[in-house]
This record gives sequence, structure tokens and C-alpha cells, in this order.
Amino acid sequence: MTAKRQHFSRGHLLALCTFLVPLGVLAWLGQSELQRSGSAAREALEREARTFLQSAAQALAPQFDRLPPIVEHSRQLLAAEGPVRTTLALRDQDAFPPLLDIVLLDEASSLVWPEPPLPSLGLPFARDARPRGTDTAIAATLRTADLLLQTGRIAEAATVLQRLITRFEEANPPQPRTGRRELDDQEVAARFQLGAARRKLGDLDAARTEFEKVAQAGPRRGGGSGAGFYGDVANLSLLAESALAELGTSGDRVRLLRAIAESRREAADGLLSALAVRLAERVPNTDPLHAEAQVLLREERQRAQTRAIAVDYDAIQKAELRRRLQREAGAGNSDLQLVSTFGSTTMLLWVRDATDEERSKRRCSRVGLHFDIGQLLAPALPQLVGGTGSFALAISDPNDVPMVPPPREVPADFAPPLTEVHGLVLRAFPANTEKLLRDAQAAAQNRTLLFVALFFTALAGALWLWRSVSREAELAALKVDLVSRVSHELKTPLALIRMYGETLGLGRARDSEQAAQFGGIIARESERLTTLIQRILDFSRQQAGTLQYTPQHTDLTTLARNVCAAYAPHLESRGAVLIDTLTPGVFVDCDANACESALVNLLENAAKYGIEGDDEHEIEVDLRTRGGEAWLEVRDRGRGIPDHERDRVFDGFYRASNSGEVRGAGLGLSLVRHFARAHGGDVTSQPRDGGGSVFRLALPLSPPETASPGSTPTQTQPQRP
Ligand code: ADP
Repeated sequence: MTAKRQHFSRGHLLALCTFLVPLGVLAWLGQSELQRSGSAAREALEREARTFLQSAAQALAPQFDRLPPIVEHSRQLLAAEGPVRTTLALRDQDAFPPLLDIVLLDEASSLVWPEPPLPSLGLPFARDARPRGTDTAIAATLRTADLLLQTGRIAEAATVLQRLITRFEEANPPQPRTGRRELDDQEVAARFQLGAARRKLGDLDAARTEFEKVAQAGPRRGGGSGAGFYGDVANLSLLAESALAELGTSGDRVRLLRAIAESRREAADGLLSALAVRLAERVPNTDPLHAEAQVLLREERQRAQTRAIAVDYDAIQKAELRRRLQREAGAGNSDLQLVSTFGSTTMLLWVRDATDEERSKRRCSRVGLHFDIGQLLAPALPQLVGGTGSFALAISDPNDVPMVPPPREVPADFAPPLTEVHGLVLRAFPANTEKLLRDAQAAAQNRTLLFVALFFTALAGALWLWRSVSREAELAALKVDLVSRVSHELKTPLALIRMYGETLGLGRARDSEQAAQFGGIIARESERLTTLIQRILDFSRQQAGTLQYTPQHTDLTTLARNVCAAYAPHLESRGAVLIDTLTPGVFVDCDANACESALVNLLENAAKYGIEGDDEHEIEVDLRTRGGEAWLEVRDRGRGIPDHERDRVFDGFYRASNSGEVRGAGLGLSLVRHFARAHGGDVTSQPRDGGGSVFRLALPLSPPETASPGSTPTQTQPQRP
């Protein structure tokens, strides 16, 4: 038999198909079923989310229903009160805090009121030491005075400033025609600082005189437009006015406050707001004008807020409003709603046409009301956003800027259903995303596990099937091998016996010596035949499980010595030298005949499988004890056994790939192993250093004194072929 024989047959293919095809179908069905149940769960989730979204939209609708009455009411108030007061009135009377402000628009949707906001000036209260002027020496003096004022050297500052003003008066005398003097920027600044210094020194009359001059300089020079209007002089003049009001009565303060609130004073927003606060603070609680001052302050704040929102209106809403108006022109519906986000506030701009009265009084074509959507929806949001149910609501403006952001962790494949309410985009997310994620993960894990399990089951099944089919095929091949090999093995000795028998029978031998030689050949071949037949019988008994041994207390040393002695001449005739090193007194319990056969088999192989062309080689037989076992080793210097076949040579009918022309049936080693294992030992083959093989027959030791003649036969164990 060659080393490897591929036993792949149609039977293999069929077996594999009958196993793998149904398994593949099963896996496919399982996969599609899992997918189906997964998508069914997702669909159910999305259905629930849509239902939640509907109910959320319904819950929010009443909040939006609060807007039309406010818009309606604004029609009645605006013509009479103006936008600031209308806003405050709607907020107070109608208890509607979401109203942020009212803006007035022209036909082109540009702001009529408030006017485009002025650049902010910060809070220039304490000082403004950067007067514009051409004279750098004067500017330096002003800076010195400012420094003195700041460091508390007020009197020195006053002296420096007074000296500077005297120089201004000398250089710029009153006009002969009007008798008045035109103050330049630097003189205005110097006088303002001098006024502040005098005030700190307690010289209030002198302070008032300076402040009055500054207050008059601003409006006269600015004239409401042109270069320099927004500059220092206008601001200083307003500051001087404020200082005068502070030095005056509560009435003076409230008057200036009203002028500011009613937009009759022009300056940067920051400055106006800061002055309004300062003036209102200086009307004490006990003063009868206190309440009015507070109302005016509130109006001023509202005005400032409207102007701040107007910046965003110009930047964001105007263009969109124009687009919408163009698109919907002629649609008959003049009211428009626009949602956008400024900073952190999402606003709704409700634009309606102005009434005739508004058109004539306010000179506007449309009126816009800004509502804070967060405040508007606040009463309805907690139960929708808090996630007390299974879903949570996320809200964003039309540009997808979130107003109420979605939960932080959302499953990647979850597409939230969405709906639009008054320009807001509502989305429903599962409230407990963690659980959802966990479930999704668990489902994915289960799927993977199932597939891995299916795959390995299929693989194991296929391997098992492959193995058993291979076994079957091997067995079938074995049977064929047995017949052909045995008949071949029988034929050769039989032919020889017959030939030499006939030669002798016909008296054709040359002489008695040749006759004896022929007789010897006939005897050797019959012996070979007997051995072969014995092995075949043993092997078939072994396969059938009926091979029996009769173990006896055996002196293995003596047995081995006898075999060696008997076999040495035979080996020598085949060019082999036998050397034995036998430890005396090694006893085992075994079937002595079978043991002899095993040793003979090993010796025979050692002689048979020598290197081709090498006529002489040594065979060693070594017996020793090791760890409770007797080791009987047969070592040769033959051709050896390829590594991957070292174990297989013990299988029935197996012959190593390097057997070459050496005759043999491949049964001997199989019987040796059967013998060894049936007696609790084993046989192994190892490569020998320097070439050749070592076969070691290991049997459990038996103490010398425990003789057990006639022990019961050992039943053979069924062996692997
Ligand atoms: P046979 O010798 O009749 O073929 P065996 O069962 O005794 O059958 O041996 C099985 C195979 O093991 C042999 O065909 C041979 O290839 C290999 N073999 C056994 N003994 C040796 C050895 N000493 N050296 C090399 N090969 C061996």
C-alpha cells in the first residue's frame, strides 16, 4: 500500500452535499428569519415613535393657538402706543411672556423701527481720554489731566484743565456777531473733565456751568447727522446732560430718562442703556417719581432688546422673509411665520400686514412680532422631553439647529420619524437609548453566536462525514488489497515450492547436495507460507475481536535470548549481525508464543528493510527495565520510516512509502501492536541517531516470584484496523 491514497469518491461528494445543502438552506432560513424579526421589531418601534410624534404635535398645538389672539390684540394697541409700549402691554396685560418684541417693516421688509443699531460704545462713564483733535500738545495735556483725575489728584487736574480752557478762550474769542463761542472737540473734552473734577471737589455750581456748556455743544454741532455725530462730542454732551440731571432733581432725571426711552436721544446703545440704569437708580424708592422711572427704564430695556434682535433680523430673517413674501405673493394669506435661532434662542417671527392706522401713524407696511418658542412651548415640554415615557422629543429649527437636542446616544441605524409644526421640526427618539443599544447589541451577538455555532456544527458534521466515508472507502480498499496482496504473497512461495518439489520429484537434482538445497528452499518457503497464513488468520481474528492470548509469567530475558540465538544464523545468512544486550531476570505476564512472534517480526523487519545495496548491517536487541516496564528494543541501521508514516505503519496492511521491492503484506506490525496493547503495553517506532529505526516493545513488569501458570486467557480488545 502506498503512503497516502485519496479515497475521494462520488459517495463522498454525495454525502457532503446531502449534509451541507440542507444545512446551508437551514442557515439561510435562520438568517432571513432573524432579519425579518429584527426588521419587524424596528418597524414596531418606528410605528410607536410615529404615534408618539402625533400626540406630541397635538400637545404642542394649543401653545401655538395662543399666538393669534396676541397678534390680533397688537393691531388694536400698536397705533396708539408704539412698538415698545405695545410689547410691554401685551406681555403684562395678556400675561404673555413669550412675546419678545415688535418690529415695524416697510414694503421691502427693511426695518422702519428700530433703526439699524448704532455701534456699541461699551460703558464710557468714568472717562473718555481719547479726544480727537489736531493739537497733540493739547491732547497730551488732556491725557495728563485724565491721569491726575484717575490717581485722585483732583485739584491739580482742575488747575491743569482750567489753564487749558483759558488758552482755548484766548485763542478762540466769542464771535462778534452772536457773542457766542464755538467749542472745538478738545475744548468740549477739557470742559467735561473739568466739570467732573469740580463735581468731585464739591464745587457743584462750577461743575454745572461746565456740564451745561458741554451739553449744549453736542446737539448744536452734530445736528442729527453727518460726520462726528456718533463721535465723542455727542456722547460727552449726553453724559454731561446726565451729570446735570444727577446734580438736579428727580424730575430732571426722569425727564432725561423719558427722552432716552422715547428715542429722543441718539447715542450708542450701550451708553444709552447704562445712562438709563444710572438715572433710574438715582430716583429713590420714596420719590413719587420712582414708579415712573422704573416704567421708563423697562421701556428703555425693551427698546435696547428690540435693537439687539434687529441685528439678527437684518442678518438672518430679512432675506428669508423677502423670499417667502415673493413666493406667496397673491396667495391671499398675508400672515407669515418664520422660525430661526439667534444665539441660544429659537424665535418665531409672525409677520402681518399693518392696519391703515398703523400705516399712517407708524409709516410701516408690515408688523413683525418675535416670540420666544422655548417660553411658548415651556408648559407642554416637560412630559414630552423628559423621557418619562418610552420616547423623547427633539426639536430643531428649519436649519436643523437644535432647540431641544436629541438623546446623546442614538443607535446608528435608527431613523427617527419627523414631522413639522409651525416651521419647527419634531423628531421622536427612544427615551431609553441605552436599553435599545443594549438590546441591539445583544441581538447582534446572538446572531453572531448562532452563525458561529451553525458554521462549526456544519464543519464538524462535514468532517465527521468525511472521516466515516473515508473509513468506508479505506475498508473497501483494504478488502481488495487483502485479496490481491495475500494472493500475491501466497503465490511466490507456492510457485517456489512447486518448482523445487517438481525438480526433486523428477530426480533432476544434480547431486544430493543440490537436492538438500532444494529441500531447504521448500522448507523455508513453507515456513514463510505458514507464518503468513498464521498472520492472516490472526489479523482476521483480531479484526473480528476473537484473537485471544494466554498470558503466563514469562522470563522475557530468556525468551529474547532464545529467539536471538535461533534467529541469528538466519539473519546472518541475510547479511545482518545480531548483537544483544539483555538485562537478566526481566519478567512479564504475556502470551509467550505471541511475544516470540512479535520479536521475530521486529527482527525480520530489521533485516528486511536494510539500505538497498548495503549487504551488511548490525541489528541490536536490547532489553532493560524502565519505570515499571520492560523495554525490548530492536535497533537497525536500515532505511528508516518517513516521519509522517511512523505511526501508520502499525495499521493493518499499511506499508511505508519507502518499502520498495521488499516483499510483505503490512500485517506484522499491526499484530505486534495488538499483542502489546492487549498486555497493557505498547509498541513505538523512533528514528535512530545516525540512521535506521528503533522499535520499542514496552510491557508491564511482573515481579519474578509471582508465577501465574495457566492464567485465564485475555480477551482481545477490538483494535482499530
Ligand atoms: P511487512 O513488513 O510485511 O510489510 P509490517 O507490518 O511488518 O509489514 O511492517 C509495516 C511496514 O513498516 C513495512 O511495510 C515497512 O514499510 C515498515 N517497516 C517495518 N519495520 C521497518 C524497519 N525496521 N525499517 C524500515 N521500515 C520498516
